[in-house]
Amino acid sequence: MVRSNMSFISLTIALLISGWLGPTQVSASTPNEQMVCLDPGHQLYGNNALEQASPDSKEMKAKVTSGTRGVKTKKPEYVLTLEASLLLKGKLEKLGYNVVMTRETHDVDISNIERAQKCNDVQADLAVRIHADGDNSPKAQGISVLYPASSKGTQAFFAQSKEAAGVILNEAIAATGAVSRGIVPRSDLTGFNWSTVPSVLIEMGFMTNPEEDEKLSDTNYLNQLTNGMTTGINQILSSPADEPEVDAQSQVYLAAHSQLFEFTNGKMLRTQVALSPQLVQLSATKGDWGKVSTWIGDKWVYIGQGAYQVKPVDKQVVLSEDAPFYRTPSDMSPAGRLSTQKINVHGQWDEWYLIETWMGSMWISAWNVS
Ligand SMILES: [Zn+2]
Repeated sequence: MVRSNMSFISLTIALLISGWLGPTQVSASTPNEQMVCLDPGHQLYGNNALEQASPDSKEMKAKVTSGTRGVKTKKPEYVLTLEASLLLKGKLEKLGYNVVMTRETHDVDISNIERAQKCNDVQADLAVRIHADGDNSPKAQGISVLYPASSKGTQAFFAQSKEAAGVILNEAIAATGAVSRGIVPRSDLTGFNWSTVPSVLIEMGFMTNPEEDEKLSDTNYLNQLTNGMTTGINQILSSPADEPEVDAQSQVYLAAHSQLFEFTNGKMLRTQVALSPQLVQLSATKGDWGKVSTWIGDKWVYIGQGAYQVKPVDKQVVLSEDAPFYRTPSDMSPAGRLSTQKINVHGQWDEWYLIETWMGSMWISAWNVS
């Protein structure tokens, strides 16, 4: 057990070193104005006073809980999360990122709403909340990355958060050999619900698992883990620079509110403007990004996920009785229903037709037309 672990760790170290000297290091020399906000979870004393869990609900939750504790090391979670965050901050700054921390000491009193607001105030390109897990079973182990569930309040940054969660998880697992517990959407976390910027929360491992607890307090291991997280964050925030701009003539349906970005110095920088869900014409693509012409000039939207490449069609179809229509093909519940009638279709994606309704562009399934 120990031997196979050791050989795995030295292999990942070798891979990491080659990674560091490879493409990742190159971007350190390019100017970078992107902002990462790090939120080291918890604090010296929890605060059980209540605050609103979400701007859209009356539910109240504790301002900040006290977190878990190392079963072997006795280290409190708030100490580990700050250790990891400070390591991460140093590594990100070396790559040229601006890093803001919600706290740099233990004896603070900052609620989860206030933590989210700190990251909102600096318009972070990515907010990373750093935590460790706990469980009743000492066997539970591994890393998971949480992201805000899709909702009205998270539409502007849901897709980016989800993608960031996946990339950061993969890199953290590759760097440590830890067990992957996957990425998990959450609608119940105050810190996500009050966020207006792309956000993820990493559970770095279980402090209630004696082995994982000891690993997390091992300097080498924490360095590997934060190296992996840095690689993931850098991959998410720097990828557009490496992708060629390709002329495109395609239509894409933006299913969610989409923030407009400006491509400057090799980075996608957020503007304050967002597009509502609609069909847009792309003039170029760049990796997961699409160029759209807007009233504030040519801008970029993120089309990595939740975008539907629409084939223009121009035909009339007859709807079946009570045909349901949807805001996006992936919606579970219809936005409304239409009676039997002839209707113009102006786009197609897979088995779905795009139609104009009094509520804007909507989708109907090909099963409901003849
Ligand atoms: Zn925690």
